[in-house]
Amino acid sequence: MSDKDYYEILGVDRNASDSEIKKAYRKLAVKYHPDKNPGDNSAEEKFKEISSAFEILKDPDKRRKYDQFGHDAFRSGHSGGQGVDPFDLFRDAFGGGGGSGGFGSIFEDFFGGGSSQSVNEGSRGSDLRVSVEISLEQASKGVEKEIKYQRHAPCKPCSGTGAKTGSGKSMCSTCGGIGQVASNQGFISIRRTCPTCKGNGVTIENPCQNCKGDGRVKSPANVKVNIPPGVSDGNRLCSRGRGDAGSTGGSSGDLYVDVRIKKHDKFDRDEDDLFHDILIPFTLATLGGMVQVPTLDGKVSLKIPSGTQANKTFRIKDKGMPNLRSPSRNGDLYARIIIHIPKKLTKEQKEKLIEFAKASGEEDLQADEGFLEKAKRLFD
Ligand SMILES: [Zn+2]
Ligand SMILES: [Zn+2]
Repeated sequence: MSDKDYYEILGVDRNASDSEIKKAYRKLAVKYHPDKNPGDNSAEEKFKEISSAFEILKDPDKRRKYDQFGHDAFRSGHSGGQGVDPFDLFRDAFGGGGGSGGFGSIFEDFFGGGSSQSVNEGSRGSDLRVSVEISLEQASKGVEKEIKYQRHAPCKPCSGTGAKTGSGKSMCSTCGGIGQVASNQGFISIRRTCPTCKGNGVTIENPCQNCKGDGRVKSPANVKVNIPPGVSDGNRLCSRGRGDAGSTGGSSGDLYVDVRIKKHDKFDRDEDDLFHDILIPFTLATLGGMVQVPTLDGKVSLKIPSGTQANKTFRIKDKGMPNLRSPSRNGDLYARIIIHIPKKLTKEQKEKLIEFAKASGEEDLQADEGFLEKAKRLFD
């Protein structure tokens, strides 16, 4: 699958309207249609590219996914299949642990890591990784977050070329312009990035003072990220081209945003379902009544039937988290009953309870017969 940007392929702006996209597609499709270019392989390739770009951008849902996750939204691991969910992909790939192990190598597999481009374009910038913390409420509604971070941005004085104005570039004499040097160890020839030109194949005669010839400088950056409703802790979003700028004019890496969700004081979460414990007086559990249960959007009333036992769980439909893939579908809220047994009683309360015990035939609770057996006999 081509890694070219779909918007670039169609030659439209990222904010292009549906009709602009359609128009751009028609124009290009007519131009590169295989019927019009018989035997021209490059036209056919181009036509395929245009078609797959349009396939995604014409569909608002797919377009949204593409904007958020780039090509990975439609890629399945290394096999190149279709329609895989990018979150699963990243979760599998990184185990959600957030460690640094394996990051670089896996990304090289996914994104070509800079080994495949032609040498004179400079090398691709690194992918960057930042994390953003949001509340469970924000995860439920979706939220736009502004993220501030540091990236290597193109150097302004030299426009990212690394060369002082008016100064030229010459072919690297160490590697002969290939960007790699080979060293022989026995029968094995090992190729590595040329240390002189750092893989660019060219050296700058008079390097820019500001960036020391690298073409970029470390500078603060910020990006707005749309975090979709239903996002889970550990999900990762991608902002294309917001990573480090490439050196001496290479393309930019991507920015990966790890979403962290703060622990909520009222709710536990399992996928789309939420769990909440409600503490009720033993009298309410016995007699029945109404309680207020908090949800992520306000309180709801819940009927507690008389004789409700401890740990009884009530399902409150659709009051969980929205489903990430289909946000109109919601998980449920499970409210578990915790029965409050008072530790201190007033004299009056105590008398009334003794009275209650007597009325239930429990006047000698210390008797040999276990309370449980007695209770069973009395109540069943
Ligand atoms: Zn070199
Ligand atoms: Zn510079």
